This record gives sequence, C-alpha cells and structure tokens, in this order.
Amino acid sequence: MFNLTRYFSTLSFALIALAAGLLTFYFRHITYEQLLRHEQNRAEEFTQVFENSLWPLFKPVMENAQTDTPDVLQERVANVRLRETLSNMTRGTSVIRINIYTRNGISTFSTDPRQVGDSKRDNPGFLSAVNGTPISELTHRNQFATFEDTLQDRDVISTYVPIHSTEKGQERIDGVFEVYQDVTAFVQEADQHLKWVSAGVAGVLAALYLAQFMLVRHAQIILRAQARALEATNHDLDRRVQERTHDLENEISERRRAELRLDYLAHHDPLTDLPNRLLFKERLSQSLQRIRQHHTQLAVLFIDLDHFKDVNDTLGHSIGDTLLTIITRRLQACIRPGDTLARIGGDEFICILENTGGPATALEVADQLLELFRQPFTVDDKQLYLSASVGISQAPIDGMEVDVLVRKADAAMYQAKADGRNRSHFYTNAMTAYAQERIQLEGLLRDAITSNELSVHFQPKVDVKSGRLLGAEALLRWDSRELGLIPPTRFIPLAEETGFIMELGFWILCETCRQIALWDEAGLHVPVVSINLSVKQLERGNLPELLRTIMRETGITPERLELEITESVIMAMEDAFAMLADLRALGVRLALDDFGTGYSSLSYLRKLPVQTLKIDQGFIAGIGKNRSDEAIVQAMVDISRSLNLSSVAEGVETAEQFAFLRRLGCEQVQGFLFGKPVSASEFQAHWQAQAVVDTVAG
Ligand code: C2E
Ligand code: MG
Ligand code: MG
Repeated sequence: MFNLTRYFSTLSFALIALAAGLLTFYFRHITYEQLLRHEQNRAEEFTQVFENSLWPLFKPVMENAQTDTPDVLQERVANVRLRETLSNMTRGTSVIRINIYTRNGISTFSTDPRQVGDSKRDNPGFLSAVNGTPISELTHRNQFATFEDTLQDRDVISTYVPIHSTEKGQERIDGVFEVYQDVTAFVQEADQHLKWVSAGVAGVLAALYLAQFMLVRHAQIILRAQARALEATNHDLDRRVQERTHDLENEISERRRAELRLDYLAHHDPLTDLPNRLLFKERLSQSLQRIRQHHTQLAVLFIDLDHFKDVNDTLGHSIGDTLLTIITRRLQACIRPGDTLARIGGDEFICILENTGGPATALEVADQLLELFRQPFTVDDKQLYLSASVGISQAPIDGMEVDVLVRKADAAMYQAKADGRNRSHFYTNAMTAYAQERIQLEGLLRDAITSNELSVHFQPKVDVKSGRLLGAEALLRWDSRELGLIPPTRFIPLAEETGFIMELGFWILCETCRQIALWDEAGLHVPVVSINLSVKQLERGNLPELLRTIMRETGITPERLELEITESVIMAMEDAFAMLADLRALGVRLALDDFGTGYSSLSYLRKLPVQTLKIDQGFIAGIGKNRSDEAIVQAMVDISRSLNLSSVAEGVETAEQFAFLRRLGCEQVQGFLFGKPVSASEFQAHWQAQAVVDTVAG
C-alpha cells in the first residue's frame, strides 16, 4: 500500500528545512542590509561633520599630495593635528579607523600611519565614492589596526564617502573619506538574534510538521483500517461469489439432470422404459424422412395383446404390469437393433421396422413376434398364456405420414382380432372404410338418445308347460335416421369402448321400469322383465344405488326385475361375488346369460347368487342336428335343476327344438317361435289379446 506517512514526512521535512533555510537567510540578509545602511548613514554624517569642521584645515594638505612623499605627507598631517582631533571626535563611537584619499586614490591621511601614501585607485569602493556614490562593505578581520592598537577578530564595516566642496557655486568631489566602524558587537547581537529567530522558525515549522505528521499518520491509520476492511469485504465477497458460483453450478447441473429426467419421462413409458407415443412419432417421422431420401421401405407393426384386460381384471394390475415388462423383454429381444419398439397404450405396442424391402420381411417379423407368445409367461409362479394380434402398415404404399401409418396399422390389428386373434394382418383399403364407419357410428350413437332414435323392444319368455307369459327380455334397438336399423351386437361393444354404455345402460333401466309400470296400469301383468347388463356398468359400483333410485321413482318392486349378466363377464370380474351379492340384496333376480360359453365350473356356479341359467342359443340351434349339442343342453338343464335354478332356453325357433326342451324338463323358452323382440305397444297388444284367449279357453 502507498506509504503516505513516509512520503509526507520526507517531502514535508525537505520543504520545511528549505523554508527554514530561506527564512533564516532572508532575515540575515535584511539584518545586515540594515546594519550597512545604518553604519553608512553614520559614516556620511561623520563625513559631513568632517567637511564642515576639518576640511578647510586639511584641504592644503590635499593640494600638495600629488607631489609629496608619504613621510612629508605624514608630517604635514601631523602639523594640522588632525589625528588628535579625529581621535577626539571618534572617541566613544564605533569608528576605529579613518582614511582620506585624494581624487587620484592616494591615501593622504590614515589613523594607521602605515597606510599613508597607499594607492586605492583600482578599489571598487573608492571608485564608486569618487563617482559620487557612497558605499559600505562588511568584512571579518582576524587582525585590525585602529587608532590606539590592534584589535583581534573583528567585524568591520568600511564605508567610502565622497568629500564635497563648493567652489564658485560649483559642487565638486575633492577626495574620498573612508570610515571603518567596528560592528562586532552588532554582528554578534544580530547573529544571536538570528539564532533565536532561526530556532523560533525551526520550532514553529517543526510544530507544524509534527501536527501535519500526526494528521497524516492518523489519516494513514484510518486509510489502512479502511483498506483492511475493504480487503476483508473483498475477500468475503470473493468467497461468497465462489460459494454462489458453486451453488449455481450445482443448481444448473441439478436442473439439467431434472430436465433430462423430465425429457426422458416425457418420451418414455415409465413401466417398460420403452419409447412412448410421442417419441415413437418422432422416430417414425425421422424414418419417413430417411426413406424419402433413400427410396427404401418401412413397416409399422401395431401389436395388441389379446384379452389382456382379463389378466388385469382377474389377477390384478400388479401381475398385469409384471407381465407387460416380461412381454416387453421378449419383444425387444426379437426386433433388430435399428428398429424401434414403443408402448403406446395399456396393452398396445408399436414397432417400426426399417428397410423392410417389402411385405415379406414385415410378415416374417410379425410371425416371429407372434411365435414369442407360444411359450407361457411365468408371473408369481403362475403360468400365463397370452396371444397377440398384429396389424401391419407399410410406407410408402400405405402412406408417408405418421398418423396415417399408425391409423392403418391399428385398423389392420382390429381386423386380425376380428379374424380370431393371435394372428397378423396387413392393412387393406377396405379397413379404412370400416374404421371410418366406426368413427361415424360413435358420433351418431352419442346423439341417439336425444334424437329419439333408441327404443327398447321386448321378447317374451314363455312357460314350457302352460305356454303362459312368464316374463320378457328388454332388448335395445337403434333405428338411426342416417344408417337405418343397427343391431346391438354392433353398437353395444362400441358404446362399451367409448364409455357411453353408462349413459345408455341408465336409460334402458329407466325406460324398462317405466314400461312395466305403464303395462301394469294398462292391465298387462308381465311378472319379470330381464335387462342385459354390460361389464362396465357392473364395474362402476354405483349400480345398486342407481337401481334403488329408479325403482323408487317408478314404483317397481325388485322381484319384477331380472338382471342378465353373461357368463364370460362374471368369469372376468375380480369381485363378481361381492357385486352380485350387492345386487341380490336389493331383491332383484339374477340370470346367467349365454350359459355354456364361459367355461364356469360347477363348484363356481354353485357359489353364484343367480336364480336363472339362460342356455346359449348356439346349443339350441344344434338340437336335431348335433348330438353333442343336445347332450350339452341336457346336461345344462340337469345342472340347473340340481342347483335349484330355473333354466331358460334362448333362440328357440322350431317346434322340434321346443319338443326336445319340453322332454328334458326345461322350464322356460324364449325365441322367435314364441315371439320376436317387438315394441312395447306391440308386445302389449299381443299379450293382452293372448290373455283374453287364455281366459276364454280356461
Ligand atoms: P342376448 O342377451 O343373448 O339376447 C338374445 C339375442 O338373441 C337377441 O339379439 C335376440 O333378438 C336374439 N334372439 C332371440 N330369439 C331368437 C331366435 O329365435 N333366433 C335368433 N336367431 N335370435 C334370437 P339382439 O337383440 O340382436 O341382441 C344381441 C345381444 O346384444 C344380446 O344378446 C345382448 O347381449 C346384447 N344386448 C341387447 N340389448 C342390450 C342392452 O340393452 N344392454 C346390453 N348390455 N346388451 C344388450
Ligand atoms: Mg340377454
Ligand atoms: Mg343370450
């Protein structure tokens, strides 16, 4: 750091010393000037006195001085007794010697007789005085001869003064008067003064210096303290900047990691770590770019697991998830390194096959994928068998856009499923028409309730022995203004897929209950009306509550209602028992629909709280044609009897079928032979008329 004190002390000391020196010198100069002037004045006064009183005596001596020898001159001077006179005049004064010179510089008189006759022609003092200007000079003499004796160590001022005289009114210089004055005492006193003054000046300046030094030193201390504080602050700031930088670096890398993680999550399926739909689309778009440049081909394989939902429903989601990860590993092992496998939905995978070179490669890979499913999957020591359906679309023949290729592979996959699952299918143009129709149907169905295109038809159930009406089955009908009559087998699965079935199911329940009440009012008593339930309605869990409300509002008692649930739905439901028990607790009847198609065991059946088994119409159709169907029907009737359940044969079309069923002891029949599903008014008209006939016959 800049040493202020040192620089200041050096510089100010030099300046103060210089100032002290200059002041002392100046003071000394003034003092001596004054002394010289003062003594010169005295010498001039003395000369004046001499001119007035002694010059007339001395003048004749002067006039002969040119020619006289020094001895003669001394004698002449002695004659005028000048020495004594001057000695008297100067007694008590500082004058110690007097010389008188002629205009030529010859000493005509001196109080020191040895000097008489000396020439001072070239002396500057003499020359100045002879030209009219008196002059003085201070000198120090080790020895000096005076009037009386010789003095030692003297400070002497010698003054040359012109001697004037007036002749005929003209002033002229006749000679030069030299006066020596002893100023030793003055000089000593002046020197003494000078010492005191110098000491005073030095003291004042030293005090000033000291004061300034203290001030500067104090300032330096303050500056040092501030510098130290500044340095500490800087240091602290540096440290904090370093810490903050470190923190920031950490934050940035953390954020970077989080961003990477987010990016990964945004593009991957968390369960299988496979690319998700988003990343798949990006990859497909890049692949399409490549085939555009290199004129190659690629294929998109849409893989959907068959009945995967059943696994989730019966074994739980945890096992479903494990199964999915195992399947993923198998699929990954099968595809080539450059190809992309992605998971785009619950049980939907999609695969990009690069550089296929044609359909043969795509088909080969699809077959390999399907082959993977032949081996069972082991989850929690359980051996699970699963198959998949694969739809294939190809670029460029089926299109060059991501969405188009995915949609077409999806449509092809649906076709594979429709063809019986566990197979692959290439996309064909006809599929687009089907897919478009599905989309159209979906849109129209949503408006079907509000635009009154839906209605409930009723098909009678008849007592085998008496032919009396025992009940009816409510069957939904959709007469679309745009597409005409659409069978429930086409729109019910669609409504289930889209979730619209909830709204639809509620509507049917309300309509049916309302109709029972209307018939009651009209005098037609239909003992039990059965309504088909979809799996979605059962899963929702609020069905008992819903039914209770509807029955309360329409005034229908629970024993008038029967709920038909297909055997396969019950088999697939995880908590089927609890659900059915809740419904049964309401007091409504439960029927197992399409019995014989769901492989339920006898022990399982026994536990179900159902009251009716509806033998699937597929077996009834075989009566009279197929012995094994007849045997199955017989077994089913026996089972229902042994379980104390009533049996209903569905789809009875011929008298032969009816006769066979009657022989077996089947209790109820339902089929075209006894009546097709018809509107409520038709049903009422027919069965009220029938009641009249029975009464008449009875
Ligand atoms: P399902 O419950 O087994 O209904 C019986 C089906 O067999 C009805 O077909 C009926 O018209 C038909 N059928 C009755 N007797 C005969 C016959 O003698 N010969 C032939 N060939 N067929 C006969 P539909 O009305 O086309 O219904 C088909 C399926 O759609 C129903 O099968 C049921 O599973 C479902 N479905 C119908 N209405 C509803 C509904 O309101 N809700 C639900 N969830 N499903 C319904
Ligand atoms: Mg039914
Ligand atoms: Mg049925």
